[in-house]
Amino acid sequence: MNKYSEFQNYLKEYPNAQGRFGQYGGAYLPPELCEAFDEINRAYRLICHSAKFINELRRIRKEFQGRPTPVYHCERLSQKIGTGTQIYLKREDLNHTGAHKLNHCMGEGLLAKFMGKRKLIAETGAGQHGVALATAAAFFGLECDIYMGEVDIKKQAPNVARMRILGANVIPATHGLKTLKEAVDAAFEGYMREYKHSIYCIGSAVGPHPFPMMVRDFQLVVGIEAREQFIDMTGMLPDAVCACVGGGSNAIGLFLPFIDDPVEIHGIEPLGKGTNAGEHAASITYGTKGVMHGFESLMLQSQKPGEPDPVYSNASGLDYPSVGPEHAFLHDIGRIKYDAVTDEEAIRAFFMLSRYEGIIPAIESSHALAGAIKLAKEGNYGSILVNLSGRGDKDLEYVIEKYGYGDEFLKE
Ligand SMILES: *Cc1c(COP(=O)(O)O)cnc(C)c1O
Repeated sequence: MNKYSEFQNYLKEYPNAQGRFGQYGGAYLPPELCEAFDEINRAYRLICHSAKFINELRRIRKEFQGRPTPVYHCERLSQKIGTGTQIYLKREDLNHTGAHKLNHCMGEGLLAKFMGKRKLIAETGAGQHGVALATAAAFFGLECDIYMGEVDIKKQAPNVARMRILGANVIPATHGLKTLKEAVDAAFEGYMREYKHSIYCIGSAVGPHPFPMMVRDFQLVVGIEAREQFIDMTGMLPDAVCACVGGGSNAIGLFLPFIDDPVEIHGIEPLGKGTNAGEHAASITYGTKGVMHGFESLMLQSQKPGEPDPVYSNASGLDYPSVGPEHAFLHDIGRIKYDAVTDEEAIRAFFMLSRYEGIIPAIESSHALAGAIKLAKEGNYGSILVNLSGRGDKDLEYVIEKYGYGDEFLKE
């Protein structure tokens, strides 16, 4: 027996029937929505074991998404780091639409189809989840309502255009601060009116049960492929795996297939501009236990319990005040280590990967890479496998305006 073998049945044991990962998770819902989420849970538990569902999802992943995505060895970057550690990437940036989010959106869309629903509903902040879900809706021939704060609609014009071209209704949330929180409220209200023929699609491994479990299951393909590909390439397991953690979907998908292997697992949170409240979004590193958005987890809530603190990161996909309950649990029991990197560290990694490997990463994914570079500099690792969750096209304008073309960052 070693400390890893106790995780052999992990996926069967967690979450429990109530959607609990230890003390985290569950479903805290208004009574009107309990029935709707129960229905999704029951349907998923049946459908996820059916050969028809599994085979159809496999076909979609291969023919529509372009899976499997490759694993790539960064020889030049590793040489630049100079400690001998070899960096490998799981190329989710090459997944259709340019990020991992489509993995769970296609799963959610297929589930809706099997349940006989005709509409997908979701909220979106920066628009990445909205675009992935609108893509799934177009593929399956479903209607799609995306709720978005009026302020975000103005800020994220290209993603709003993409959603509309894909046929989604982008519905502005016009109350309060007119950003993500108001969009969540409006989306829940929309879902309450229409749940008989629609399904709510959460964009990360967060929210009320069964979403943290379902989104995780749909993202496991990342780690299952990567583990096999890595062993094929090198004959061994990596010494460590690394991914960025916003809500935690790309990270949990990469991590769990390694959970009973002798592999270190590192989740990287956004430290933004610093450690003061409001300057970062590192919910595991600085959060406390509480309930918000329908589930129990670690969250940034310094003023009032359940009331999210303002959060900040230069990666719009990482600035969430809480984290998936499974990450909070795996942190507590010590199987996964969590570290945080700043905006600047992420941007340096962004320019290094662009310049030394010809791969422009999303700023979110640059956080994972920055975390891996930090580990590599310790000099104790033979190899580190990083989840490159998405490509950086969406970030170019921001990066150039704020940081230029990278020459400053690449000086030794
Ligand atoms: C949304 C997003 C993330 C963060 O979401 P997780 O659920 O934490 O994976 C990370 N990378 C990219 C490219 C994203 O679009």
